[in-house]
Amino acid sequence: MNATPDFSSAEIEAGRRLFGQPWDFVWAAGSTVSLPKVHGLEIAFAGRSNVGKSSLINALTGRNSLVRVSRTPGRTQELVFFSGDPVLTLVDMPGYGFAKAPKDKVRAWTELIHAYLRGRANLARVYVLIDARHGLKDTDAPSLDVLSEAAVSHQIVLTKADQVKRADLQDRIAATQTALAGRAAAFPRVLATSSRSGDGLPELRAAIARLKAERAA
Ligand code: GDP
Repeated sequence: MNATPDFSSAEIEAGRRLFGQPWDFVWAAGSTVSLPKVHGLEIAFAGRSNVGKSSLINALTGRNSLVRVSRTPGRTQELVFFSGDPVLTLVDMPGYGFAKAPKDKVRAWTELIHAYLRGRANLARVYVLIDARHGLKDTDAPSLDVLSEAAVSHQIVLTKADQVKRADLQDRIAATQTALAGRAAAFPRVLATSSRSGDGLPELRAAIARLKAERAA
């Protein structure tokens, strides 16, 4: 897959080492008062439910049941924190796009997400996962708007790239990059991954290791 930016072999290795550590569940926050103390850097993963977010976090960390174990039914509307590195914490954000969820629930977790995004000084980047088969939709705009308004650095990661023909994937990446052009806080390059085939995972790990190196410096 020629869909990802180039990384040196040293950066790929740094990513492999970063994610080769024993990542584990540390905390879940269902409200702003229960957010853990700010420590080091955080990288968060966001996306519509069923986009492949749990599979991607499991695949990145090499822990097949990490997210399933932490994400008990009561936890689907919480921010879930994973540690495994002295500096970096991974954050699984609640899936959005539950059209059928009760309005008060949607309001509560929207408030939590907004408060987290606006107030978290150590949040280095949000990876917004988008299904490669569908690409960016108008319905994704409100979530990207929240990130733009909060001036949180964010980058699109296409998931399930194994489900799309190589040429179509290149078109989808190009279209997504074009759609992001006016968004100042959006990282201009789009990454493509497949948790199933492993494509794009070394590059995403390297991107996160690079970000850690830049931000922790
Ligand atoms: P979440 O709701 O965003 O956490 O999504 P899950 O990780 O639970 O995945 C939703 C569905 O997509 C499951 O049936 C997964 O097996 C499937 N899935 C996840 N990642 C991939 C992938 O890379 N390729 C394919 N083909 N299917 C995937």
